[in-house]
Amino acid sequence: MFFIAGISQKREDLDYYEPIMCSCCIKYGRYEAYMEYSVFSLFFIPLFRFNKKYYARTTCCNSLYLITNKEKGLMMERGQGHNVFLKDKDLKLIYKGICENTCPNCGSQVSEEHKYCPNCGNKL
Ligand SMILES: [Zn+2]
Ligand SMILES: [Zn+2]
Repeated sequence: MFFIAGISQKREDLDYYEPIMCSCCIKYGRYEAYMEYSVFSLFFIPLFRFNKKYYARTTCCNSLYLITNKEKGLMMERGQGHNVFLKDKDLKLIYKGICENTCPNCGSQVSEEHKYCPNCGNKL
């Protein structure tokens, strides 16, 4: 008997359109949610998905968060994203985006009246 089995990585956009207050830009933005998963297939037929991970990315500054609340991720996956509201405790920051309120050198938060970053002294 000859089997062709394989595991591939997939990415799928989730439906989530809740406006959020971006903690980096200090303004209203939006999350773009997506999931990544591995698919086990046999004879090129996908059999099951595993290792699912849900992510949210802000459209304003491209900060990337892992959605640690899997139940909320699952709701989005089932097309119930309009019933989900992501809170800070549901998210883990993976990558902090660069925006006008962020020092491009060290990533710390700065405000408009700063001419130099209070953390690293970088000219803004
Ligand atoms: Zn932002
Ligand atoms: Zn800095």
